[in-house]
Amino acid sequence: MILGHYAAAYIARPHARTAPFWLLLLCSNLAEFLWLALALIGVESPEPSSLLDATFENLKVHMTYSHNLVPNLALGLLVYGLVLLKLRSQKLALWCALLTVSHVWLDFIVGFEHQVLGADSASIGLNSYARFPHVAVLIEWLFSMACLVYYFRAEGRSGNLVSRKKKVALFIAFSVGILLWLPNATIPMKDLLPF
Ligand SMILES: [Zn+2]
Repeated sequence: MILGHYAAAYIARPHARTAPFWLLLLCSNLAEFLWLALALIGVESPEPSSLLDATFENLKVHMTYSHNLVPNLALGLLVYGLVLLKLRSQKLALWCALLTVSHVWLDFIVGFEHQVLGADSASIGLNSYARFPHVAVLIEWLFSMACLVYYFRAEGRSGNLVSRKKKVALFIAFSVGILLWLPNATIPMKDLLPF
């Protein structure tokens, strides 16, 4: 899952109103930023190494530290402790930790296969990017739409009505940002770019 992770932050928003929104967005995608950092230093390098040659279907990567179940639970615990220390709110700390942990569970549904702890341990996830990449992208889109609808309704119930303009903008941003990846599911980026 790529952009869909950010949609998860909108589920947390009505319950974690005093947290800075950037923090919720960051937690929802923290595992990905960790992977990017580890890939850059050669620890979790993807194959093929150039993303221009990659498709969802052919990309192979062992995300041991960033996306395996046990390290991600540890990351959630770390986030919980740091947010509690800084914002002094049990509720906000729990929501931030939940978003951090939700990342790999969402990737288990829409993404690559991951393991419990290390490449030789039990695999978790549907491996949907390799098995049914187009459907995987559509699941991500549906999930994001559901998150937004939940957010609009929860905000409406608590008297913080979301404007029609903002609703349309969010629906469009997430739809375009997710569905745009559909061709890349099986066609390398270098064949899709016009130059
Ligand atoms: Zn991820």
